[in-house]
Amino acid sequence: MNYVIFLIMFLTAFIAAQLAIYIFYNRKKIYLKGFLGLILSVFTYSLFYSFELISPDLNYMKLLAAVQYIGILSIPAFWVIMALEYTNKSKYVNVKLYIIIFCLPVILVILNFTNEYHHLFYRNYSAAIVYSLSIANISPGIGYIMSTIYINLMSLLGNILYIEFFIKNNVYRKRSFTIMITSFIPWIGYWIYMSGIMPIKIDIVPVFMAILCLFYVKALSKNNIFETAVIARHIIFDNIKEFVIVLDMNNKIIDINKTTEQFFNKEASIIIGQDIAKALEDFTAITKYLKDNKEVTFDFEMKTDDKQHYFRGEITFINNDGKVVILKDNTEQILMIKRLQYYATMDILTEVYNRNHFYSVANERILYCIKNNQPISLVMVDLDKFKNINDTYGHSAGDLILKNVIAICKTCLGKNHTIGRYGGEEFLIILEKFEEEQILEIVEKIRVKIMNFNNIYEGKIIKVTCSFGIFTSIGLTDLNEMIRNADEALYKSKNEGRNRISIKNKNISI
Ligand code: GH3
Ligand code: MG
Ligand code: MG
Repeated sequence: MNYVIFLIMFLTAFIAAQLAIYIFYNRKKIYLKGFLGLILSVFTYSLFYSFELISPDLNYMKLLAAVQYIGILSIPAFWVIMALEYTNKSKYVNVKLYIIIFCLPVILVILNFTNEYHHLFYRNYSAAIVYSLSIANISPGIGYIMSTIYINLMSLLGNILYIEFFIKNNVYRKRSFTIMITSFIPWIGYWIYMSGIMPIKIDIVPVFMAILCLFYVKALSKNNIFETAVIARHIIFDNIKEFVIVLDMNNKIIDINKTTEQFFNKEASIIIGQDIAKALEDFTAITKYLKDNKEVTFDFEMKTDDKQHYFRGEITFINNDGKVVILKDNTEQILMIKRLQYYATMDILTEVYNRNHFYSVANERILYCIKNNQPISLVMVDLDKFKNINDTYGHSAGDLILKNVIAICKTCLGKNHTIGRYGGEEFLIILEKFEEEQILEIVEKIRVKIMNFNNIYEGKIIKVTCSFGIFTSIGLTDLNEMIRNADEALYKSKNEGRNRISIKNKNISI
């Protein structure tokens, strides 16, 4: 009997050691730091307890019991740490928490080691030999009572964390249920020990702890209960750059990751359980996709205080239990595309369409006007004697004047126009709907404004004029025909002395 009990205890220590080695070598797969601590504590507890059982005299027993207490008191501490880690509360596991949790155990262990000087841990410590085993017989002191309270409260706290996790966690029901139920295993050992139903007072809590750890390790290696998705949540979930929002089927928030928390400046613990439309008001754009109850990919824009954001979103269902919304902030990419689009379509100096893009837009407008039987006009603008300006004032002065001339055109034209740089100092303008007289009126206004405008470069006033050629048409035409005719009209303006307007239409030329 005696050696069987010793062997059980020693075997428990042996198993705990094996588990600790296993956990240590697989630490990358297992994200619970508390788990390794727990197993090492069980190992310390059971090993020294087994030695205590066969210790030859009282002094040895006392020393072994004191060492044992390092394990006994760190079990509940690591138990709570592990529970925090498992239940997605890793953010609370930091140095401060370790200090708080281990503060009392350290004091109590010291009290135990130094008991003979103050008798605060055991008021009295004797031993009896029962079935050839050394069984301690103690009268508890304040330290011992506090240890018991600490162990009970911390164990209970662990249980509560698992219960809360089970109640709140809608996604991993089976796993959270299993871990919740198994977290009560150590209590069985504790109550058997406390109830005194054993023939001799042997503490079998370490045996039950080892059984539990064995179960956890088995679950671990089978990769179910400690599945990466649950355990590594803080690693894979929180470190995802995308916004991840887990919802139930009624669009209530089950979980959000760090990126989402930080972007909205809202804590997960506060908005979990709330309706997404209420909790994340700025995201109303996505609620319409959620209402459809379909798996979709979508794009949407959102403005924050300082920036316009572009998102690509994806809604996926988890076994009809819930939905996951993943949002990727595509702002950088979209802005880059917009920039590239700008450079590919615009003339950077004057900020009008470049020739290529003007052609494609003009062709569209011509087709539209033909289809709707609307008048369409092309105005060709050419700066007069511009070469002289460059030669006299320099190229930068020329650039400034080009910008000014186009700015004047834009203000006089209002919104309804298409303007492009044809090449050098020549520009093309498409005007829709206007009859010949109205066009003349508009272009005349531009001509006069340009003529009267004071371009100021390095303190000098530079005056320029422009010549214009206009072609208007109703009905069938194409861009080539329009350019050819506008060019002819412009040539006429230049020939007749510049700073003037010539107009051609399909039948009449002035
Ligand atoms: P005309 O009245 O007959 O049109 O005479 P012009 O001097 O304006 O015509 P020409 O075709 O002989 O010269 C056009 C000049 O426009 C030549 C070129 O240096 C200048 N030019 C073309 N593009 C630019 C530009 O982007 N910036 C500047 N500063 N000058 C430009
Ligand atoms: Mg020219
Ligand atoms: Mg010119």
